[in-house]
Amino acid sequence: MTRRPVLEVRDLGARLPRRDGGHHLVLHGVSFSVAPGEVLAVVGESGAGKTMTLTALLGLLPARAEVRGEAVLHPPGSGGEPVSLLGLSERDRRRLRGRGIAHLPQGAATALTPVRTVGSQLRETARALGHGRASAERVVRAALARFGAEEELLGRYPHQLSGGQLQRFANAAALMGDPCLVLADEPTAGLDEDRAATTAAELRRQADEGRAVLVVTHDLRLAEDLADRVAVLYAGHTVETGPSARVLGHPRHPYTAALLAALPRHGLRPLAGEPPQAVGHVHGGCPFADRCPLFVDRCRAELPALRPAPGSDGDHRTACHRAEDLAAGPATSRPTGIPATVVAPPAGGGTC
Ligand code: SF4
Repeated sequence: MTRRPVLEVRDLGARLPRRDGGHHLVLHGVSFSVAPGEVLAVVGESGAGKTMTLTALLGLLPARAEVRGEAVLHPPGSGGEPVSLLGLSERDRRRLRGRGIAHLPQGAATALTPVRTVGSQLRETARALGHGRASAERVVRAALARFGAEEELLGRYPHQLSGGQLQRFANAAALMGDPCLVLADEPTAGLDEDRAATTAAELRRQADEGRAVLVVTHDLRLAEDLADRVAVLYAGHTVETGPSARVLGHPRHPYTAALLAALPRHGLRPLAGEPPQAVGHVHGGCPFADRCPLFVDRCRAELPALRPAPGSDGDHRTACHRAEDLAAGPATSRPTGIPATVVAPPAGGGTC
């Protein structure tokens, strides 16, 4: 049975004001969803729109930004009314943070104020969630226990803690309100291998406890290891989305295939060229046209819609005019630099 998503994003677009009075298009058509108990990894190169998407969902774009599309939070359970995240008032957004949505920013440790002890900051977070003094103390200690953060360090200032200790306190603060949706921006960036593994395990546990977890990352290995579903972004567009085993095992978009080809196990073949920095400057066709080895004239003339990937049941979607050619595998026009293992059809499963 398909579960109702906690977060549904449909055709999200955003334009930021420029100094010359014009606008800068930063998101063009981002679509994905994430259900309770699921980890969704939003992947792509720098400038693909990953962090900008999170910023829009959190309502943190500049005041004069123009946002279109839909982003709806469906709190799990029978009593929760859907909440449109775009255009929330500051008051409603603050009410939602912590209890409805937890945000783990990139370098979560910087979320803690340097001039106050971590204990006072955690207690304040608990009080802001509506707990009285005694109850706040209990909630703080329970959060610390869950994240393995040391109680005896509560009296210290952030600069007196190691990076790992800070991360655990920051996570405890962000997730104290028992949210239904966790948004994590590059959660393992800059961490050593052990710490990255601990962070990934914690995010998995958040999902296993029934939360929807959205992870923004440029690290495809993290997406493979952690995510149930993947959304691949390019130049502010979702170009491919679906179950991670399908998207990363049998990509049906040349950009996803090229990202995979750049991994060491596929020969470390980096994708040539740069992604367009300003989506508004792209012609009306496919945003990947200038770098795509499967390019044909139609690609520049017509923006490909996100549609079911060839041979899929509709859950795996791609925005490519030539997805059928990619699904046909090495016998057809396999793009240069994309390994056969990446484009070959899955064993015993039609063309996809
Ligand atoms: S639509 Fe054309 S340019 Fe875009 S990814 Fe597909 S083949 Fe490449």
